[in-house]
Amino acid sequence: MSDDPPPLTRRSPKTKRAPVIDARLRETYQGGVVELDWTTPFELLVATILSAQSTDRKINEITPRLFAKYRGPADYVAVDEEELQRDIYQTGFFRQKTRSLRGMSAALLERHGGEVPLRMTDLIALPGVARKTANVVLGAVAPDAHRDDPDAGIAVDTHVKRLSLRFGFTRATDPVVIERDLMRLLPKASWPTASLSIILHGRRVCDALRPRCADCVVEDLCPSSLLAGCRDRAGQAKGMG
Ligand code: SF4
Repeated sequence: MSDDPPPLTRRSPKTKRAPVIDARLRETYQGGVVELDWTTPFELLVATILSAQSTDRKINEITPRLFAKYRGPADYVAVDEEELQRDIYQTGFFRQKTRSLRGMSAALLERHGGEVPLRMTDLIALPGVARKTANVVLGAVAPDAHRDDPDAGIAVDTHVKRLSLRFGFTRATDPVVIERDLMRLLPKASWPTASLSIILHGRRVCDALRPRCADCVVEDLCPSSLLAGCRDRAGQAKGMG
């Protein structure tokens, strides 16, 4: 009799499937990449705040002009609120985002000499910066610091949420709980960038309404595969983009 472990299937425990799914998606998307355009940690922080409820493409359309006009936190604090609202209007939720950008910029100047702190507790203490934004920025700017940071985790956006449900990695819909569930399943070395390849898979293959299961590199490990006649564990929930 062979001592080989049984092959993994979509019915295998999530603890066994998760590292393999993570590795396959990383290989497929070559580790993934932040699709927002940025050249400094501050620009990435601004772009990530703006990207809420918008698309990276839309943000990349407006940031060249924005970054040329606003060179650093002092410019966001100094500008008239309505002028900044006009400058970011196209990204949606522009009033709330204006408050976040100005509050975040003021806090950077007051507490960190205008620099973006590379520590999770400092990042999430900034106005308008939740764990998703902080994980994205720290993971992209300083992956080693992210790995060593006891408060860092995994960025959970709408794609990570949907795919985590479809993979059966979580039953939660609260991003904080989903993040905790993923942290139990994925190797810590993966945390800084784990969400990047999941997000690309969500954008290119595992669409919210029409997942392309026949083209999916983790189809054999997915308990929501429509190809295999499974029920979609994300429930085709309305509004899950
Ligand atoms: S098999 Fe289908 S539902 Fe599962 S991850 Fe792939 S595309 Fe998404």
